[in-house]
Amino acid sequence: MKAAAFYEYGPAEAMQYADIPDPVTGPGDVLVQVQACGVNHSDLDSRAGTSRWPFELPMVLGAEFTGTVVGVGDHDGPIRAGDRVTAFQQYSCGRCARCARWRPDLCEAFEIFGTTRWGGYGELVCVPAEVVVPLQPGDDLLAMAAGQCAVSTAWHMVNRLALVRPGDLVLIPSASGGVAGALVQCAKLAGATVVATAGTAGKASQVSSLGADEVIVRGETDVAADLVRVTGGRRFDAVLDTVGGPLFGTHLSLLREEGTLVICGAHAGEVVPIDLIPLFRNGWRIIGFRVAPPDELATSLDLIRRGLINVPIAATFPISDAAEAHRFLERRQHVGKVLLVAG
Ligand SMILES: [Zn+2]
Repeated sequence: MKAAAFYEYGPAEAMQYADIPDPVTGPGDVLVQVQACGVNHSDLDSRAGTSRWPFELPMVLGAEFTGTVVGVGDHDGPIRAGDRVTAFQQYSCGRCARCARWRPDLCEAFEIFGTTRWGGYGELVCVPAEVVVPLQPGDDLLAMAAGQCAVSTAWHMVNRLALVRPGDLVLIPSASGGVAGALVQCAKLAGATVVATAGTAGKASQVSSLGADEVIVRGETDVAADLVRVTGGRRFDAVLDTVGGPLFGTHLSLLREEGTLVICGAHAGEVVPIDLIPLFRNGWRIIGFRVAPPDELATSLDLIRRGLINVPIAATFPISDAAEAHRFLERRQHVGKVLLVAG
């Protein structure tokens, strides 16, 4: 098959679209022909060698793919050739102590597509049948690829971790990314008032169109003062952060007593200073989070299917142009999700 693989870490052009061996399906695996695959910010780190995951090269990235089953091997279950499917972004062993206490996200033997095994930046992906998620015949495979990770992550942060309730005031910093845009919509569905920030006026108007009640453009002005102004001084019940970075402490300082900050990403900066005195005086909670459990993936696909959440597609590139897609994401001008699509 052809795939955009990289054989050593480096800039975007380290990914070469070329022939590589077809995936070898083992017992219980199915073979999926990729139709679309989301490009995640973490993919850029993986390719550059700055990710903290260990990689075995060559690697084919891509955890968020949709496609059509083209081979079922000796699998004798409900998955059939011709089925339109997606898959869990990662899956666990199902046998260890952490899996047994329903924390598969903490399993030490987990596998992640595009990290510990080849993912969707190619023509074919080998997928264990038990982690295949069937789609419905009318589903839009691009919309599902754009939303499967973003919406499930956002849904878990809003409803399981921050426990957002009707009437809550929620802050979503840097809301132009895929997950952050889904956070805006999930928090609105939960009944919250949503204040967001964005890097430019153009991005701010697109974040507004996703349903944010107020959007602050970060610029020369003091972001904290702007946020206090638009909220009339009311503090946030929750901060839903996908970026971290130098404003982390500012966002934290705007929480109410016993408020919660949930964080799932750090591409604005991985190491941040925190003033611990107000943290414990106010009883703030900081919760880290990485990947949603399977039931929330199913919930999220249904929200997309029903049109309740829309993840904007900023751009699509053929899989053969994966390097260009990475350069596009690195420029950080986009709003929404960048997709690779079959040529
Ligand atoms: Zn396990």
